[in-house]
Amino acid sequence: MKIGREDFEALIKGEKDITPYIELNTLEGTYSVFGVKTASNPNYLIKAIYDMYESHLNKKLAVKAVRKLFRSVGMGSLGLYNLLKKSGMELSPAEFLMLVFKLQHQQGWGAPFELVEQSEKRIILRTKRTFESEILKDWKMPVCGVHQGWIEGVMMAVTGKNWYCLERKCVANGDDCCEFVIDQVDPSWKFKAQSVVKGESAITEFIDHRPVEWDDQADRRSRGHDAEVCLYVHDELAQKDHGRTACGRGELPGLYGHGEENVEHYKKMGITQPNVLSDMAFTFYSQMGWFRLVKSEWNEEKKEKTITLEHTVESEAFGSTGKNVCYCTAGLLAGIIEGAFGIKVQCREIKCRSKGDEYCVFTVTNKAA
Ligand SMILES: [Zn+2]
Ligand SMILES: [Zn+2]
Repeated sequence: MKIGREDFEALIKGEKDITPYIELNTLEGTYSVFGVKTASNPNYLIKAIYDMYESHLNKKLAVKAVRKLFRSVGMGSLGLYNLLKKSGMELSPAEFLMLVFKLQHQQGWGAPFELVEQSEKRIILRTKRTFESEILKDWKMPVCGVHQGWIEGVMMAVTGKNWYCLERKCVANGDDCCEFVIDQVDPSWKFKAQSVVKGESAITEFIDHRPVEWDDQADRRSRGHDAEVCLYVHDELAQKDHGRTACGRGELPGLYGHGEENVEHYKKMGITQPNVLSDMAFTFYSQMGWFRLVKSEWNEEKKEKTITLEHTVESEAFGSTGKNVCYCTAGLLAGIIEGAFGIKVQCREIKCRSKGDEYCVFTVTNKAA
């Protein structure tokens, strides 16, 4: 079947619906739309996906996981966007978003959206209900991860920028509609860290983000000044010190809490092996641009772990100072190790870039009771 620009224009205007483009294969029980196979009973599928995640995580993280899953579905709309462009149809990202959901709705999937607001950096969409809000009504919370992820994926695909979709109202939460606020966001680690700290995001959401490319100076600058990073961390510590001494003043600085919380997230996912837990945390923080792990060694005789890092936020922020500066990082490492291995440790920086050493080197030892 050949589909042209007129078809899409007719769809947008409401003169046609999607049914002529649907091919039903009753034998296989599948049907395809524009040649793409879709599930014929989305409710079953969606419920199964949510339940699967919920049994491993919790409700809140299940919504996040579904959202992440559906981002790729949204990204898949890029082909359609390019097809329209090629046929001379220039839609704004918001208009395209509306079209995608119109198509999905006619397949029995998406919700018919109302465009409440659109500007360069913000779009607000509203709908009376979504299928997931009906299926998961008894969850009594915002549940529309399918739509959130889908929206984010579409927006990322067509603009090449990062978008964050917040579900401000949800039928499953007792509201009169589901309302989505979609903001273009700063892709920096700071935004991610803030949303993790506020509990809006699971740390796991960020794990497959493009790692910081350390060789690319321009990219590093756009990531935000490292000094700002450090200031933010210090700020954060003032509020979330977990009763420990503030960063830079004490032996076990407050970043400790971050590392420990990070590990706790992985534990909730059912991961138990200490080495895997600490590796995941190291990976997470290096992808966030906190440091780059060079190596990690274990000395059985001395019962001592040595961790070698480069590009720690502190050594980058403070530059050459002639002394060790990575107190926050030391606390972070201690928190990760304690959380992962369930022991009390002491972490000391013995070499530092800021002091003129090649790497920042930390030793972790059991803390005497
Ligand atoms: Zn909802
Ligand atoms: Zn250092």
